[in-house]
Amino acid sequence: FLGVAISAVLAKKSLRPMEESLESQSRFTSDAAHELRTPLTVIKTETEVALRDSKLKLADAKEILESNLEEVVKLENLTSALLRLAHNSNSLDKASWQKYKLQDIFVATEERVAKEAKARNVAIKIVDTKLIVFGDADQLVELLVILVSNAIKYSGEGSQVELLAKNNGDSRISILVKDNGIGIKSVDIDHIFDRFYRADQSRTKSKVGGYGLGLSIAKSIVDAHGGKITVKSKPNKGSEFCIILNKK
Ligand code: ADP
Repeated sequence: FLGVAISAVLAKKSLRPMEESLESQSRFTSDAAHELRTPLTVIKTETEVALRDSKLKLADAKEILESNLEEVVKLENLTSALLRLAHNSNSLDKASWQKYKLQDIFVATEERVAKEAKARNVAIKIVDTKLIVFGDADQLVELLVILVSNAIKYSGEGSQVELLAKNNGDSRISILVKDNGIGIKSVDIDHIFDRFYRADQSRTKSKVGGYGLGLSIAKSIVDAHGGKITVKSKPNKGSEFCIILNKK
């Protein structure tokens, strides 16, 4: 009897990780479906109301088309974020990985966020670095674009975002992305890398668009590179994201 009881307990224990992974998979699917359904509902309702109006004016029709287009752009952004997540967790094609000058990755990142930074009047300060990083150039730029773009999004007009790097022993480097923005509450810190998690900052949530997928994509890129990503943050003071990556 004792033998049966012990094996039942062990079996239950060994199934736990699988159960957890199924649970998280199903939560992810339902979150994704929910996010996809919201813009679809808006498009459907607006189109139905417009079609029912026999005296619909051209100006009103154009307004509806504009609003529908906005929802389509949201759907486009969401599906491409979902595809990026799936791609990063499936593929670990290291064949194209190379050593790159980190400065080149920084400059390419700055180019990608320049428009956004200008629109919010945020200065990007790059501290010149001679360090080398090893990995996939496109993904490394993508990673920094996510972090710098968040830093811009969650900072006030006229503030500064800093991008710098430090040597971290013989084989590793640390990249820091610092902002003086709204910061992250300690209750949220443990969750911000979760898929679809957005900190409840009612002040910003309505103003700042996003699906809570950026940081999980960032983490999947760092994980694929065998690195580490952490954050230090103080509400109303700012945040500092630190990524540790390999030099070779
Ligand atoms: P999104 O920005 O689309 O909401 P992310 O996954 O990129 O999704 O970020 C998750 C949450 O973490 C954000 O909603 C925000 O609350 C918080 N966050 C991320 N970066 C910063 C930052 N630099 N400053 C303050 N909050 C941040």
